[in-house]
Amino acid sequence: MDTIRLEPAPGIFCFRQPMGARYLQFYALADGDGFTLWDTALPGVVTGWQDAGQLGRVDRAVISHADADHLGDTAALRARHPQLKVFCHAADRHWIEFHGVLAQARYDHARADHSFGYDATTLQGLWDACGPDFTVDGTLADGDILPIGSRRWTVLHVPGHSPGHLALWSEADGILLASDAVLGFGPPTPAGIPSMPSTHQFIADYLATIARLADLPVQQVLTAHWPFMTAQEFTGFLALSRQRVMLDLETILAACGRQPQSFAALIGVLNDRFRTWPEGEDANYMYALSGSLEYLLAQGALAKDAGLYTAR
Ligand SMILES: [Zn+2]
Repeated sequence: MDTIRLEPAPGIFCFRQPMGARYLQFYALADGDGFTLWDTALPGVVTGWQDAGQLGRVDRAVISHADADHLGDTAALRARHPQLKVFCHAADRHWIEFHGVLAQARYDHARADHSFGYDATTLQGLWDACGPDFTVDGTLADGDILPIGSRRWTVLHVPGHSPGHLALWSEADGILLASDAVLGFGPPTPAGIPSMPSTHQFIADYLATIARLADLPVQQVLTAHWPFMTAQEFTGFLALSRQRVMLDLETILAACGRQPQSFAALIGVLNDRFRTWPEGEDANYMYALSGSLEYLLAQGALAKDAGLYTAR
């Protein structure tokens, strides 16, 4: 798997390196004589590229959403560049600033209701991967315009994977910086096989985001864990992302129609049917399962009693 700096379009630099079975990409946008970052990856990653002479001064960082691998090097960057200004969407701000809250409310969200979650070591590892807490300087909202270098980026609020997920859209050349806004069947291995379950969670929002992005006249889509996509590839990717949601809903409803199911049992049902990843990744289905259950309960398609779900 390559560790490589690419330039998918003039002034847009992509830094790609392995992260377990998949790869992680963050982007630097040329901005005057410095850079605006789109995500800050994991602790040591961005600063590591700087130490290797591959990236210059960073003046601003826009964080697409509250996940360790998108914000982890921010505190170290701020120590290195005291002028650094950090931005995100208001709905993810609290998690981005307070990583103990992020670890509990996002990575351990199924504990209270379902006694389900990562083991303690994994959970601590996710928290550590957020790096030290840092403050956000300002928030961005849908429709805001960010001039960076020669481009005018429109901020898009595209929730579903997280409540405050952002994307950046350059209408003039059709470039979409999507980060993890849409997730297909899950981030792939270099061979293109989903390496873990898709971690979208908020289903109604996610479906609306998929539909909205389908209407953008994209030329090139740049994400955090996938190869660069053409317009045609992105159309297929959006279709897959929608199909993922529908298959999960169908599978959950069918299982709950046979007999009442616990959260943990449904994690097993989904992974047994769809797993293309090592079993150690199975727990990552909890986000899509939580969201799907909430969605089906709201629609009246499921009932919940004593922690068990039954089809109605
Ligand atoms: Zn993410």
